[in-house]
Parts: sequence; C-alpha cells; structure tokens
Amino acid sequence: MKQRILIVGAGFAGMWSALSATRLLDMHGHRDTEVAVLAPQAELRLRPRFYEQEAHRMVAPLAELFAVVGVRFIKGAAERIDVDGQTVTYRDAQGDLAELGYDRLVLATGSNLVRPALAGLEHAFDVDQLEGAVRLEQHLKSLGRLPASSARNTVVVAGGGFTGIETATEMPARLRAVLGEAADVRVIVVDRGSEIGGALGKGPHALVAEASAELGVEWRLNSSVVAVDAGGVSLADGERIEASTVVWTVGVRASSLTAQIPAQRDGLGRLHVDGNLRVIGQDAIFATGDVAYAATDELGNYALMTCQHAIALGRSAGNNVAASLLGVEPIPYRQPKYATCLDLGGWGALLTEGWDRQVKQVREAGKQLKNHINNILIYPPAANRADALAAADPLIPVIE
Ligand SMILES: Cc1cc2nc3c(=O)[nH]c(=O)nc-3n(C[C@H](O)[C@H](O)[C@H](O)COP(=O)(O)OP(=O)(O)OC[C@H]3O[C@@H](n4cnc5c(N)ncnc54)[C@H](O)[C@@H]3O)c2cc1C
Repeated sequence: MKQRILIVGAGFAGMWSALSATRLLDMHGHRDTEVAVLAPQAELRLRPRFYEQEAHRMVAPLAELFAVVGVRFIKGAAERIDVDGQTVTYRDAQGDLAELGYDRLVLATGSNLVRPALAGLEHAFDVDQLEGAVRLEQHLKSLGRLPASSARNTVVVAGGGFTGIETATEMPARLRAVLGEAADVRVIVVDRGSEIGGALGKGPHALVAEASAELGVEWRLNSSVVAVDAGGVSLADGERIEASTVVWTVGVRASSLTAQIPAQRDGLGRLHVDGNLRVIGQDAIFATGDVAYAATDELGNYALMTCQHAIALGRSAGNNVAASLLGVEPIPYRQPKYATCLDLGGWGALLTEGWDRQVKQVREAGKQLKNHINNILIYPPAANRADALAAADPLIPVIE
C-alpha cells in the first residue's frame, strides 16, 4: 500500500511543502508515496496583500499546479488530529466528517487574528483573512452612498505594527477613491507604544512618522481602544472618535490545531521544531510556516510569522518530510537573511535588511520592490511540472 504524506493547509508553507516533498520523491524515483494536501480551497490566498484594495483578487489557483506535479488535493477543513492513530478527521466539502490516515503529517494551517473580548468588537473589520478583507472592501465602497459626515470620512486602525501601518497608510487613497479627491478624510492609528512605528526599530520609526505626516495619518500613542460601536471607538483615556470604519489588526496566533499535538509551544501557539522542522517529540509530524517556532540561524533568531519565512519553511519541511520516509539526509532549515518591505501607501515603501532593520531603500525605489514582491515573488510557480519542482529546492534563498 502507498504511504502518505499529508499536508494540512494550502498557504505559502503548505503549497511549497507539497512541491518540495514531490521534488525529492521524484529525484529518488520514488513512486510509492502519495503527497496529499488537505485545505478548504485549492487556492493560495495572498494574505500579505489583504490591506490593498480589490482584496477579492488576492488569490491564485492551485488545482492545476497540484495536478501537473501529481499532488492529490482534498477539499476540507481538519478538525481533529489523532497523533497515536496517525489520522486526521476533517469536514469535507459536503459538510460531512471524513478521516485520512498518514505516515507523515505536515501541519501548515497558518495563523489567525484572535480578537480580544472587547465591547462591540464585532463592529470592527480586519484584513487577516480573505473574507474579512473583502468585507472591508465592500464596506468602504458603501461609504460613498452615505451622506457626508465626520464619522463616514474617518477610519480608526487599532494597532500600529506592520499590518496596522500598511492598512493605515493605504487608507487615505482608498477613502478618496470612494469619497472623491476633495473629501476631508481622517485616518487614525491607535497604538499602545510611545513612538510611531516604534515596534519596527529606530530606522523605520522616523520614516513611518514622515510618511504618516505626509499622508495625513494621525497617531494616538500610549493609548488603546477599549470599546467599539457602530459609530466609532472609545479610547482608554476617555477620548471618543466618531468613525464608521474601525480596522482591528492586533493579536495574531498560530492555528488552534497546534494545541492537538502534544508538544511544546511558544507564546503565539507555534510548535517547537528541530533543525529539520520535525515537531520535537513527534517523529511523524512536521510543522511549517506560521505554526512553527523554528530557529533561522545559530545566533538565536527565530522565524517570524511572515510570508518570507513561510516560503522557506515550506520548501524545507517538504524536503525533510520526504527525506524522513526515503531514509536520506535531510537539509536543515536555515534562513539567516531577513528583510522587510513595508508599504507606506502614497509615500512609497521602505526596505530594511537585517534583524536590526537597517533602512536600505525608501519611497519609489522601495515601492518598486514591494510591487515586485506583491505581484510576482509571492505567487505560486506556473503549472509546469519541471519548473515548479525546480523552484521548490529548499536551498533557493527567498531573499538573495
Ligand atoms: C494584512 C497582512 C499583511 C502581511 N504582510 C506581510 C508582508 O509584507 N511580508 C511577509 O513576509 N508576511 C506578511 N504577512 C504574513 C503572511 O501572510 C503569513 O505569515 C503567511 O501567510 C503564513 O503562511 P502560512 O502558509 O503559514 O499560513 P497561511 O498563509 O495562513 O495559510 C494557511 C493555510 O491553511 C489552511 N487552513 C487553515 N485551517 C485549516 C484547517 N483546519 N484544515 C485545513 N486547512 C486549513 C488555510 O485555508 C490556508 O490554506 C501579512 C499578513 C497579513 C494578514
């Protein structure tokens, strides 16, 4: 009987795991192992683009790619992992429960925004998953049908980290596209920190402040949203901001399926993995992408919940899960280079390199790179067997 590598999740990490596992099996002429991907949809949802307009377009089909490389796609959402029995129970496309056995499991179910229990938070939007980003898009378009008011023209973004900054700096242009160029729009970021973009480090901080000032994005620092309602937000210091649009961006955690695997997890719920991305203490289970707490080097740096890490972690997990069945040497996961490219709307974008985030490019030059990343780099390879498998080599760096 065929052995099965079961990959749960078809995001960056899951897709690249499937291609990379297939690549190594192929290189060894091994035909007795099925590579199967279980996910709710055969498409790559481009989460890094969900702060942009036209969110519904931020998906890339995977069915043809999986078909040409011989990866079996199973539509469904995993609900239970039986580690001892080596099975996954999932809800299939018809809503029925079904079960799949595995010889090796790769958990690649990503992360989610977990909202705190805050009064009225159901009125807030987010850009974490496709459905939410599309809801925000539709809501923004609907503002054009409302009479002019300060609330209609105001967006509050809760959280000034990466997602909050990219969402906020894009917002003046998105609002004006709906309300007209002359509209008096307001975008306000509410953040607990004491400095604009402070969490990103000294270099980015000054440039995020510059971009915010240029775009008219206001910041409420040392502050937090304590309640949301249909007409706006209340802040911890008692300030009330009238706003028809509130976007919540803080509180991302690894998929809750990680809790079903008896193993150590970090504060974000990510599974501790060894250098080959095998879950520590679980011989048959690998974790990758946003569900993996993985060392990137020997200097004490760990992968972040980013696409740049998920792509490399995916190629690595796929290679090593296949290596474990083939009995060949794995290739340890290493990703010493780290860069960030932060979109700052009409100001441009900011490229930093290194864990201390040294600024390397700004404004239009940064924007060109961001456009390349968002429009090309993060997309799946074309549905061509040889090229797609070659692209899954775990030794290809995500950043040159
Ligand atoms: C607004 C925004 C902006 C971002 N910007 C950047 C950026 O500029 N640069 C960067 O590097 N990163 C960025 N990120 C982070 C990046 O998107 C994530 O780190 C990346 O998507 C993680 O990849 P992943 O494959 O681990 O998980 P995901 O992309 O989340 O994919 C998870 C997959 O698992 C599937 N799944 C989930 N639950 C189940 C289940 N129960 N059963 C089966 N399948 C399941 C999902 O359907 C999906 O296919 C951004 C994220 C957001 C939200």
